[in-house]
Amino acid sequence: MSESLTFSQLALPEPLLRAVTELGYETPSPIQAAAIPKLLAGEDLLGQAQTGTGKTAAFALPLLARLDPAQNEPQILVLAPTRELAIQVAEAFQAYARFMPAFHVLPLYGGQSYTNQLKSLKRGSQVIVGTPGRILDHLDRGTLQLDKLRAIVLDEADEMLRMGFIDDVQTIMDATPAGRQVAMFSATMPSQIRAIAQKHLKNAQEIKIESKTSTVERITQRYVMLDGNQKLDALTRVLEGEEYDASIIFVRTKSATEEIAEKLGARGYAVACLNGDMNQANREQTIRRLKASQIDIIVATDVAARGLDVERISLVINYDIPYDSEAYVHRIGRTGRAGRLGKAILFVSPRERRLLRTIEHATRQPIEKMSLPTGEVIEQRRIESFRASLANTIEAKNLSFFQDLINDWREKLETTDADLAAALLFLAQKDQPLNVAKQFPEIREPHARGDRPDRPERSGERPARFERGDRPERSGDRPERAPRPRREMQGNYNTYRIEVGKEHGVRAGDIVGAIANEANIDSQFIGNIKLFDHFSTVELPADIPTEIFQHLKKVYVRKQKLNISVDTGGNSSGGNSGGERAERPAGDRRPSSAPAGAGPRPGAAPKRRTRE
Ligand code: AMP
Repeated sequence: MSESLTFSQLALPEPLLRAVTELGYETPSPIQAAAIPKLLAGEDLLGQAQTGTGKTAAFALPLLARLDPAQNEPQILVLAPTRELAIQVAEAFQAYARFMPAFHVLPLYGGQSYTNQLKSLKRGSQVIVGTPGRILDHLDRGTLQLDKLRAIVLDEADEMLRMGFIDDVQTIMDATPAGRQVAMFSATMPSQIRAIAQKHLKNAQEIKIESKTSTVERITQRYVMLDGNQKLDALTRVLEGEEYDASIIFVRTKSATEEIAEKLGARGYAVACLNGDMNQANREQTIRRLKASQIDIIVATDVAARGLDVERISLVINYDIPYDSEAYVHRIGRTGRAGRLGKAILFVSPRERRLLRTIEHATRQPIEKMSLPTGEVIEQRRIESFRASLANTIEAKNLSFFQDLINDWREKLETTDADLAAALLFLAQKDQPLNVAKQFPEIREPHARGDRPDRPERSGERPARFERGDRPERSGDRPERAPRPRREMQGNYNTYRIEVGKEHGVRAGDIVGAIANEANIDSQFIGNIKLFDHFSTVELPADIPTEIFQHLKKVYVRKQKLNISVDTGGNSSGGNSGGERAERPAGDRRPSSAPAGAGPRPGAAPKRRTRE
């Protein structure tokens, strides 16, 4: 954590500071503290940062600060590998620029109609955030002008490389004015990424947030993989299903401390928040109440909880993932005090998977995957806890007044002890019902990426056309994309056949892009792709949900409907050439021809450890 630095010390203009304050940000994250001054000074930057580190604000804030508000043409271009990321980044720009008058940001990604995009482009936007394919299309068509561009950002550069977009990225870079500022962010730094940086960045400042190794003992660490919109539900389950004396829940913003404390309070928890807006007296009072067991749960930001030493805290919940491993170690160190045992649970969205691994490395301890308590478990715990308090009451309280009442009611109501007890139990449990197993539906682990809690599902309006498929054929003066390296997939994979092949001009990157964007399958779960003349084969997880499979059938690549089906033509080394082919439902788990390791389904932890 950046100990003392504040946003106002970063020399950002007032409208941006106001936005950051309103969003509830307390302090810059480490990557922000390092990147913002350099980008504000107009320098090029190469940043090694993963999702979850706050990298979007690290480039958006300083570049917005350098924007000319009077100019309504594209001044900042951000290239992102997927439509999800493009939308997220555009939303972030909008949020940070909310107090900048006449500001416009435009996301441009495949699948949207060109007509709408053209209208928006004509209206004018200072910031464009797009996927490389669609940006290149607009450049080819002359509908996007970059001559006034001041800065270009390559976000998740390694992911763009992995998805086969890197030639497009190079072409776009070459089409930007020579004097523009370049910021490049990548979670990893493979040689191809370094080569691009060397070619396009001038005296680039390189920043990497070093993860200090520090071991933590006596603390059991686990994580839950979930989507952002499942977090609150998951939190209440964890609080019900776990044994703890007192708990501290870490979030990123002041507003989140208040919001979550309020929601837990409404559910009957003894909870308070702890954030940087509170004065010292309030803070001390809250800590005293926690020590005295007047409250059991604190919802805090990193800064506010720094140094907190309360022996009762036996459970730390990382509701929002920390920015780096150092912050993680600080956080979980709030438990396991005075030689006691402690537990730490981390909520991770699929996009933050890499950050989880970094933390695991730095702490030199595995963080075990856990599943959330089911409805049955929660029901059992409630019943047991009720029975325990019943036993205490029978043992410790003088109940003669109540026994007399029972004797009287049994006679007057002409009923039995069992019926009376059952009716009283029914009334007593109303605030916290015992019969709840069915009220807690299963929280399913997300299959792939996409962790924006505040974004509506778009699948309904998803068009049957993919960005790269409807791009006009080019004159052929661009080099062929480098083939994807052969990948060893683990877990349960099938080989699928898609009805687009070499004769249609398809390239592996087109297929990865289409599947990643349309089926929301992270590109790391897309296995080997073989291109044949009339069709192609691709290895994909065997358990793709049926609706996604059906959707993929209708997706177009290079003007061809994919019409995806399970390939029965032997194995991934060739598929068949259109002969016998029986379609199987997507959920079919029959042994597949794809290399099937012992690993679990995609996205599961052991896979993450073995493959990355
Ligand atoms: P990113 O790594 O850019 O995807 O950001 C991850 C999340 O952290 C987003 O929800 C941001 O709104 C949030 N965030 C970024 N910077 C800060 C900050 N300085 N304080 C609190 N939250 C932040």
